[in-house]
Amino acid sequence: MVDPQLLKILVCPLGKAPLRLEGNTLVCTRCGPRFSISREGYPNMLIEEAELPPGIQRIEDLPCYRETLKPAESP
Ligand SMILES: [Zn+2]
Repeated sequence: MVDPQLLKILVCPLGKAPLRLEGNTLVCTRCGPRFSISREGYPNMLIEEAELPPGIQRIEDLPCYRETLKPAESP
């Protein structure tokens, strides 16, 4: 089980969107990849090792990934 305090501060490593606890995984509420949680309760927040949502083949296709690419200021 994940520490609730830890859960509160965890966000999607890509777009900093909040995460939802689903079974034994953490799911980004915006872009949907599943981050696994170890038996000791430590979430693996590496996007490279996350399970991508259906229909998404590449990390580059995730909405949160695109969010990080957005220029800070756009005309
Ligand atoms: Zn995300």
